[in-house]
Amino acid sequence: MKIKFAEFVMSNSNVEKCPKSMLPEYAFIGRSNVGKSSLINMLTNRKSLAKTSGRPGKTQLINHFLINKNWHLVDLPGYGYARVSKTAKKTFQKFITQYFNHREQLVTAFVLVDIRHTPQPVDLDFMRWLGENGIPFSIIFTKADKLKPNAIERHINDYKEVLLETWEEMPNYFITSSSKSIGKENLLEYIDTLNTSMNLSSK
Ligand code: GDP
Repeated sequence: MKIKFAEFVMSNSNVEKCPKSMLPEYAFIGRSNVGKSSLINMLTNRKSLAKTSGRPGKTQLINHFLINKNWHLVDLPGYGYARVSKTAKKTFQKFITQYFNHREQLVTAFVLVDIRHTPQPVDLDFMRWLGENGIPFSIIFTKADKLKPNAIERHINDYKEVLLETWEEMPNYFITSSSKSIGKENLLEYIDTLNTSMNLSSK
């Protein structure tokens, strides 16, 4: 799939105010600084469609983008900010929970994790929560340019080991780098396949 059209639609903190359209949507979420904005910009061939984070904690909203006029890419707030207050965290949790539990249009979530780090409890807890709530997800490993191939393999194996304690099989995953444009085609093809399986042509 080539992305020929990418447009910001709206930001809000209330799932009921999200676009009413039934276009399939794909949500991107991960810890602050994981490289989510860079990944969205890489996927959409834009320098600043998603704002890269200057000040973590500022982008606490559900952001909808219309892609190729037939699907929505959703940029969700990053979790795990050290500098955000407890009250802000609770409010955040509430609307994210509501988003995942009520957004019928959601096809799958993409949970972003920095490939350089060992499996982090906050990411594993979030994946477990998605699983318990029946929300399909894939993992996107980011910043692969920072590691050599054998280290990438080692880090993914560490993830597999931890995840297989909870899951019957390793969730679907992608290895990406926004700075080296790695993984873009695979990810877009995957979304395209899901869109096509829902009788949508997005070519
Ligand atoms: P966000 O907070 O998750 O939206 O993360 P950003 O996209 O703003 O990126 C956070 C930091 O990681 C920035 O300094 C980016 O330049 C850097 N970064 C993002 N993606 C990559 C990548 O693929 N490779 C490398 N080396 N750095 C990246």
